[in-house]
Amino acid sequence: MVTTSIEKGVDWVRVRGDFPILGAVDAQGRRLAFLDSAASSQKPARVIEAVERYYRETNANIHRGVYDLSERATAQYEAARHMAADFVNARSAREIVFVRNTTEGINLVAQTWGRRNVGAGDLIVVTTMDHHSNLVPWQMLAEEKGARLAAVRVTDDGKLDLDHLKELLAQGPRLVVFPHVSNSLGTINPAKEIVRLAHEAGAVTVVDGAQSVPHMPVDVQALDADFVAFSGHKMLGPMGSGVLYGKLELLEGMPPFMGGGGMIRKVSIEGSTWADVPARFEAGTPAVGDAIGLGAAVEYLQGIGMTNVREHERALTGYALERLREVPELTVYGPEDAEERAGVISFTLGDIHAHDVAAILNEENVAVRAGHHCCQPLMERLGVVATTRASLYVYNDEEDVDRLVVGLRRAQAIFAA
Ligand code: PLP
Repeated sequence: MVTTSIEKGVDWVRVRGDFPILGAVDAQGRRLAFLDSAASSQKPARVIEAVERYYRETNANIHRGVYDLSERATAQYEAARHMAADFVNARSAREIVFVRNTTEGINLVAQTWGRRNVGAGDLIVVTTMDHHSNLVPWQMLAEEKGARLAAVRVTDDGKLDLDHLKELLAQGPRLVVFPHVSNSLGTINPAKEIVRLAHEAGAVTVVDGAQSVPHMPVDVQALDADFVAFSGHKMLGPMGSGVLYGKLELLEGMPPFMGGGGMIRKVSIEGSTWADVPARFEAGTPAVGDAIGLGAAVEYLQGIGMTNVREHERALTGYALERLREVPELTVYGPEDAEERAGVISFTLGDIHAHDVAAILNEENVAVRAGHHCCQPLMERLGVVATTRASLYVYNDEEDVDRLVVGLRRAQAIFAA
């Protein structure tokens, strides 16, 4: 056993028990081995209850109501903002903009800071391992502005080629964007170093934190990134909750993203002026219940401790990599060392199509994802059309990994027949 059920004071069996959906068994009495948290995580009872409680006891539109319910809803929504700020160690809750997800956070930066600050001929540096969410918005901006786009190469062992990054930085890019953790390879990129190098080259940085913030301690001040986007639904929170962190001085210099209620200071037929940040970026009625649910998810994760979360996943990833080595004809992509990767394991199994592998695993009540994982340029770099991906979180244990291995052997047996 690589991990024990009680590790550094965390009872992982109890943690698993906090997730109602994982308590169910299938017709054959097998529990669900949920290995798709990189796509979206499951939710603990505490988060589900926080959302339900909001709708049962507090539901009202926020900020402008002068009655008790509205004031309570406003207070809970703003408290969730403070919790999110605390979670990533932002200097101020004003640096936290509530959005629907990582995608919206990145588009917000592209359409506001980007449109104002990127011009014809400017270079935007992306990476070959970016999720489409951190590539397509920059392509759209580059097309609109006549800017150039270049992608940092990925090495054979699934890391960013930092020499290539330095070559691109020598061209003085306006912007450098990259994933803190790759959602396909699991690679943990040296984010602090990349941000430092980018800043030395005079670039602004956007970190896609979708796969890092839920899984390890992330301190935006230590990272010094200008913007960090992440999704609540990948960190035990509700779908529809997400965060864009931005340095206050940058946010304050940005025009609004969308126009409407809540984001203005003064409106006349002739024109409007904008509210202070972060309200400037939160036009219309926000997803109040979801933000409150995200706050509950933050509290839950802090209760476990993010260092413990990371340690649990590191140990389980190490165990999974070891067990997967036993499966013949299985190729795992990304760094070999569990220290250098998060709990995301992409692989191919001989010439069996990734979707067939996932379908057979599903028959075993093992849930994984198959496809290009919104990383088509990376798939091209790896020379594959698709991979099967198993991803881990706080509720996974060795039994889930063992079930994966059994399922993979069964897939091989079926295709060998
Ligand atoms: N970036 C990365 C690295 C991701 O893994 C994902 C989702 O899988 C996203 C961005 C997009 O997240 P969302 O769909 O929540 O906007």
